Amino acid sequence: MQYFFDVEFLEKKQIGKDIYEVILSLQKGEFHFKPGQYIWLTIPKLTFTDAKGNRRAFSISSVPDKNRISLIVKDTKSGYKNSLLNLNKGEKLQVAGPFGSSFILEDKVLKSNIVFIAKQECIAPFLSILRCATGKETEGKQLFLLFFTTDGEIFYKEEFENLESQNILKLTTFSGNFSYQNSVLEKINLAETFFFINGDQLFVSETVKALTSKGVKKEAMVFGENYPVDENNLSPLDIEKFVSDKNNLGFLAIEQSNHHITITDVNGIILFANDAAQNITGYTKTELLGNTPRLWGGIMGKDFYKNLWERLKNGKSFIGQMTNRRKNGQPYHTISNIAPIINKEGSVKGFIDTEEDITQQVFFEEHLRLKNITIEQEHQRANALLESLGEGVIAIDLNGIVQNANPTAVSMLGFTEDELLGKPFADIVKAENDSGHIIPKEERGVTKALTTGKKTQTIHNYIRKDGSKFAAGIISSPIIVDNSLQGIITVFRDVTKEEEIDRAKTEFISLASHQLRTPLSAVKWFLGMLLGGDAGKLTPEQNEMMRNVYKSNERMIDLVNSLLNVSRIESGRIIVDPVPTDMKELLDGIKQDLFVKLGEKNQKLTISIEENLPKINLDPLLIRQVYINLLTNALKYSPENTEIILSVAKQGDGLLSFVKDKGYGIPIKEKDKVFTKLYRGENVVTKVTDGNGLGLYLAKQIIESSKGKIWFDSEENKGTTFWFTLPISGMQKKEGEVKLNS
Ligand code: ATP
Ligand code: MG
Repeated sequence: MQYFFDVEFLEKKQIGKDIYEVILSLQKGEFHFKPGQYIWLTIPKLTFTDAKGNRRAFSISSVPDKNRISLIVKDTKSGYKNSLLNLNKGEKLQVAGPFGSSFILEDKVLKSNIVFIAKQECIAPFLSILRCATGKETEGKQLFLLFFTTDGEIFYKEEFENLESQNILKLTTFSGNFSYQNSVLEKINLAETFFFINGDQLFVSETVKALTSKGVKKEAMVFGENYPVDENNLSPLDIEKFVSDKNNLGFLAIEQSNHHITITDVNGIILFANDAAQNITGYTKTELLGNTPRLWGGIMGKDFYKNLWERLKNGKSFIGQMTNRRKNGQPYHTISNIAPIINKEGSVKGFIDTEEDITQQVFFEEHLRLKNITIEQEHQRANALLESLGEGVIAIDLNGIVQNANPTAVSMLGFTEDELLGKPFADIVKAENDSGHIIPKEERGVTKALTTGKKTQTIHNYIRKDGSKFAAGIISSPIIVDNSLQGIITVFRDVTKEEEIDRAKTEFISLASHQLRTPLSAVKWFLGMLLGGDAGKLTPEQNEMMRNVYKSNERMIDLVNSLLNVSRIESGRIIVDPVPTDMKELLDGIKQDLFVKLGEKNQKLTISIEENLPKINLDPLLIRQVYINLLTNALKYSPENTEIILSVAKQGDGLLSFVKDKGYGIPIKEKDKVFTKLYRGENVVTKVTDGNGLGLYLAKQIIESSKGKIWFDSEENKGTTFWFTLPISGMQKKEGEVKLNS
């Protein structure tokens, strides 16, 4: 709901002595109000100064119109009124509102006679109601307007007479104050009549006195701006006595309290406001005094205030949360505690209103509430995701205990949720390696992820509750909150099929390669014979061609051998047979083997081995393959006359080797593919045609299956270094079926 409107000063019409109707036109939006409501009008820049500030409340006197608002303004010669009445057409103002409720609409009122009693410009709120009246509001009863003037002047005389002629209204005008003798009340059944009284304080008091003397009850009277004087009521003088003694501890305490404290008389007119009231509402004390709490309140809805007044009138206090509005329009929240001030004789003298600004708390609470909703939603989304996931997901705490298992995990493992929850995962769900041995707990991916705080990726054969097994591709990821490990999420899927396909592929390659080897050897054999002149001397041209065929056949043999090695490694059937190996001897032998290759491009190989290196348990066949692959690469992918360095040294509990060249390098964008099967660098494929893209893949498989690591560093056209480590304890023996290059 919009509360603030930009308006323009349209015109002012004089309707009586010092009394004007001011018409404002709306700039934007629509202004909806009910007859009887009021607004606050702000003049952004006062032409004349006014201690009470640049805002005033006015009853709306016009009939509901979305684009226009009329007010009745009495020229009291205050700075504010002077400024307002001197505005020119088109000047900008701000309206806040509408506030207050239209009192005429209540049922009990509608079934009664209604008498509006107004003095002079105080006719404004009634005007709006009367202008909307159709005569049907009172269901056969009557509508009266008793209009009082001090100088005999009647505003809107014609308008009222017009209403009278339509039988909507009975108008009686008076000069001076209420005097019962002159009134028309004699003819009205007072028991069924409501009175709306609006005028200055004296006028209201006199009117009430006269009506009361005729037996009209207080409950049948509704007041506008002023209430009748009441001797019990607090007066500004009472307050003055209290605040004048600046050393009075009671006064100091109230004045300096952090809570907003205001004291009002029984009619809600503010007689005292402390510093906090000023700070919280944004109104100066001068603006607050003489006003009512409607200044910052009034936005809680009709029933709320009705209930509030009901309690206060009966001498009870009110405590509750409220939303108010600061002078700058900002809403704020309070815990308000309004208590009647009751004297010794037991009569209510006024009210004390203590408000604590809890906007911040409300804001945080709301923030928290929204956050909780978001968390809850995320939780539900995550749950839904987990439930529907095709992968098994298990959450494990720091002690390896299962905290959560999704339905897929439950059905894949064959254990019920209860059998898993709260139990140590690695003990309940056992895992085997390919050779059928149970994998010790500390070697399981989950345990490793827990101990290292790093993600692990493994393939284990999980054993179901019924003893059956399946190959599970498992990823265990640490859950890290605030830099500390909270547990592990293990995600696994059944990879039996993939494993089978992989195995079939490897087997196929192995078979095919075997089959190819025999004919290739035969071709080699016969080519050798042809080249050796066994079938007669070849012409130089024939000899040249035969040599080319021979070379191609050699490359084919090489490829088939490499493929066989790959399939042997991948099938896991390879024999690892470590023997204590002297590194110097091993590498010298390799250098010997590379002698011819080194000469082809006049390259130099420098080998540096740490002195006193003990013998290391290595399978010479496998380790040799690694060095050969790295060294042949260094030679192949470097230009003529370059140096290659091979270094071997102990580092911690490992043996670190590196092969460094000054060759063509590896393009940076391909660095992730280097160890994959069949990779060949874009920068070298045309330069160096012989190569299968299998050497590094094999080297990596050998190193990693020996618990080592391999990596490299390269810059194009500057050179490349490949590093690898092996545990100083050497390779582990493994009974296999086949040897490399066999
Ligand atoms: P082969 O299977 O006969 O060894 P290959 O040498 O092409 O063939 P890998 O040893 O696996 O295969 O090497 C893969 C690719 O990596 C090479 O083709 C080359 O592009 C690049 N490469 C490897 N080592 C080096 C190096 N030292 N300098 C530059 N590029 C290299
Ligand atoms: Mg190679």
